[in-house]
Amino acid sequence: MSIGLSSDKSVRDAYEADASGLHLVPDLVARPESVDDVIEVVRKAVSDQTPITCAGAQTSTTGASITDKGILLSLLALDRISPPDEKGRTINVEPGALVGEIKRTAAAAGLLFAPDPTSEEESTIGGAIACNASGARTFKYGATRRHVRALKVVMASGELIEFRRPDLEKNTVGYAFAHDPIDWFIGSEGTLGIIVEAELSLLPLPHHVVGLAVLFKAERDALNFVIATRESPQLSARCIEYFDGSAIEIARSASAGLIPPDATGMVYVEEEISDDLDSTLVRWMELIETIGTDLEPLVFDGEARLREARRIRHSIPATMNERGNSFRSSGGRKVSTDWAVPYRRLPEAIETARSLVSEAGIDEPVIYGHAGNGHPHQNFVARDTRELASIEAVVEETLRRVLALGGTVAAEHGIGKIKRRWLPLQMNALQISMMTAVKTALDPLGLLAPGNIL
Ligand SMILES: Cc1cc2nc3c(=O)[nH]c(=O)nc-3n(C[C@H](O)[C@H](O)[C@H](O)COP(=O)(O)OP(=O)(O)OC[C@H]3O[C@@H](n4cnc5c(N)ncnc54)[C@H](O)[C@@H]3O)c2cc1C
Repeated sequence: MSIGLSSDKSVRDAYEADASGLHLVPDLVARPESVDDVIEVVRKAVSDQTPITCAGAQTSTTGASITDKGILLSLLALDRISPPDEKGRTINVEPGALVGEIKRTAAAAGLLFAPDPTSEEESTIGGAIACNASGARTFKYGATRRHVRALKVVMASGELIEFRRPDLEKNTVGYAFAHDPIDWFIGSEGTLGIIVEAELSLLPLPHHVVGLAVLFKAERDALNFVIATRESPQLSARCIEYFDGSAIEIARSASAGLIPPDATGMVYVEEEISDDLDSTLVRWMELIETIGTDLEPLVFDGEARLREARRIRHSIPATMNERGNSFRSSGGRKVSTDWAVPYRRLPEAIETARSLVSEAGIDEPVIYGHAGNGHPHQNFVARDTRELASIEAVVEETLRRVLALGGTVAAEHGIGKIKRRWLPLQMNALQISMMTAVKTALDPLGLLAPGNIL
């Protein structure tokens, strides 16, 4: 058995970055090829008291999958995807499997793995589970948590334990947070255990889905359309995504000018068709008329067109990452917010966020994202350390205002290392001490992912 531990500088350098803009070089890199290898790495780390940080594809935006303390454990080689159980609608996967590959395997059997982070073609299921990743279609299907039935986890002691969701409809035994230990690991950002296998739930693959990009000349109209869509009894959107004028500009160049130049607000929706395309489109046009716009919506009908819409959507975070990376040498980077508010508070939250930016005199961010869940991303680009400090001060004040509206500081990307300082804004001392107690019980030596979350 080889646990593939390397102290070679070039190997360590290859794992120093994720999508956060931070750079941390690990002391050692382990690239296990089996569950036994993972157990071996953990046992050795326990005896040496060396910390271990898991990494999938390192697309984390929060510095969660990089470390300068101990071992960086890459799970990419554990990437097996078993054939789906078509009757039971489940699929077993190893953590290094790409989310997009799992979706294709399920689709070939007429089944859907619903979680759809925008990064699905470049991120792993281990990372998606550890961050409870979500995506546009989370609006209909829920985040990754809802689709995980069982996990095999290598604990901080080196013990391998299988956790399976109980199939109970009622249960009053003990504290609720101990009813289903699977939920401890989902969203734990590698701090409580190492996921080495997952059994995922699948759904029937929808037969026909249509996407619509609804265009407006005013941001407020677009945001009102988001609320109208959520509250429409006639329509059943599976995603409701918002794009401001700057996000539209990026989407326009990625779509070869498909979007007209006078659109300054866009809402992209998808619906799984239950009757026929024409009746579905008529219902959408009726809703659009209640808000009013003289711009024609763009229709994305069929799998190839939906993929095209997804590619255009993905161009926005990808472009902003590139812009942020280009200022790395001067200490700059992309700063992405991940806050969310109850959906009806979204127009107010965006207005507040914009006014804080303009009071501080910094460049307007690009705003886009999962508006149906009250969850837009503001993407800023800091060109140097001075701009970074000004942006972070504005973001912190925005988070305080968002919390006052009943919101959260992080809705899908997790806390990692970058957002750790904002955890106490949202969680009180009692909540943090409960999390610390769980961490201490599961990882008494504090070896797993030091610096993430707590
Ligand atoms: C362009 C772009 C778009 C994005 N869009 C979205 C989006 O729409 N929705 C969304 O939720 N996120 C999004 N993200 C963030 C990121 O892609 C997701 O969080 C993704 O799930 C991370 O997967 P990964 O394989 O890259 O994990 P990594 O970045 O390698 O790791 C993420 C975390 O998971 C832990 N981890 C990884 N594997 C394991 C394991 N086997 N056991 C225990 N812990 C583990 C790591 O320690 C770390 O804490 C985006 C990122 C980029 C760059």
